[in-house]
Amino acid sequence: MNSCEGEKGVLDLYDVTIIGGGPSGLYTAFYSGMRALKTKIIEAKSDLGGLVTHFYPKKTIYDVGGIPSIEGAQLIEHLNRQAETFHPAIITGQTIVNMERLENQTFKLVASNGAVHYSRRIILAVGSGIFEVNKLPLEEAPLYENTSLFYAAGDPQRFSDKQVVISGGGNGALDWAAELAPHCKRLTVIYRGDQFVHALEHNVERLHTYQVDVKMSSEIVALSGTKGQLSSVTVCSSASGCSETVAADAVIVNHGFQFSLGGLDDWGMTIDNSGICVDQSMQTSVNGIYAIGNAASYPQKLYLIAAGFVEGPIAVNSVKHDLEPEAPAQAMVSTHHSFFNDK
Ligand SMILES: Cc1cc2nc3c(=O)[nH]c(=O)nc-3n(C[C@H](O)[C@H](O)[C@H](O)COP(=O)(O)OP(=O)(O)OC[C@H]3O[C@@H](n4cnc5c(N)ncnc54)[C@H](O)[C@@H]3O)c2cc1C
Repeated sequence: MNSCEGEKGVLDLYDVTIIGGGPSGLYTAFYSGMRALKTKIIEAKSDLGGLVTHFYPKKTIYDVGGIPSIEGAQLIEHLNRQAETFHPAIITGQTIVNMERLENQTFKLVASNGAVHYSRRIILAVGSGIFEVNKLPLEEAPLYENTSLFYAAGDPQRFSDKQVVISGGGNGALDWAAELAPHCKRLTVIYRGDQFVHALEHNVERLHTYQVDVKMSSEIVALSGTKGQLSSVTVCSSASGCSETVAADAVIVNHGFQFSLGGLDDWGMTIDNSGICVDQSMQTSVNGIYAIGNAASYPQKLYLIAAGFVEGPIAVNSVKHDLEPEAPAQAMVSTHHSFFNDK
């Protein structure tokens, strides 16, 4: 480490840097504040909230303890507010790709845009990694993106009285169909398979209930419109070999997505098919680096939002013990925590 890096490192040195601002990372930032650790969250996307924000903000979640039902976006809003309680540094739009352990045993983290961060310990709350949607493989598709071609349904109201085409046949696509059908003027689902083998039965049944027009063994082969506004799509049936034009004000594509851990898989951690392997303290095979939430792999791992709410505090308590061996093993419960009692 040169002296410049040393000075900056001391200046900007955080006790904990949480990589990933999904539900697990957000709650962990709150708990880290309960333990008086200087905390930073770094999130790759421009919005916090992880899978919830990007894939199901409008869906209702029923399985978070103590909250009978809550819309995804609202849960993230609550988590954001809770995370801000102890004023962690929150950085969005930076993907961490590189890690280096410095001579003084702190970590130097480098983002893909070149930004540098220094931290004494790292908690990986990266889920399955950076997710990218599979885009519609048509040359003209970018011309319509975000004006009339979308890769997430978002608020159903924006499709009120519109002719909408959904491309895809998994649960995500059929979920969107059921959500949008009551709002649209006309809804068509186009799927290249001849059966909905990747969708739950009740999702398929809902298509009939809402009288959605379904075109199986078919795919969109061309988009037509002007100035970013679609007017129709050309659909080709692999069964009949025929093409037809379907009127469309908007197309929503759900062709799945791809995850990548990016540079993180070169950090020397043991990784299995389910994620980054951790021990009971949530520490990975690399000393000082912890993993929680969907990123963590251990026997009987639960892939629930609530699981990250326990794994995060375990990791934070492990970090606290590591940095301050004399500190109590856990934070004082919030009802008796001095921060809240002194308010
Ligand atoms: C359609 C769907 C419905 C679901 N419904 C439920 C439900 O009803 N109840 C429930 O409990 N769970 C549900 N889940 C699962 C739940 O969403 C996950 O368990 C939860 O999101 C895991 O949170 P996380 O913070 O660990 O990971 P994620 O939500 O995946 O967040 C990880 C974050 O890390 C960021 N990141 C990744 N790599 C980097 C990097 N290198 N640098 C910076 N940032 C990075 C990502 O951009 C992302 O924002 C559902 C999942 C899906 C897909």
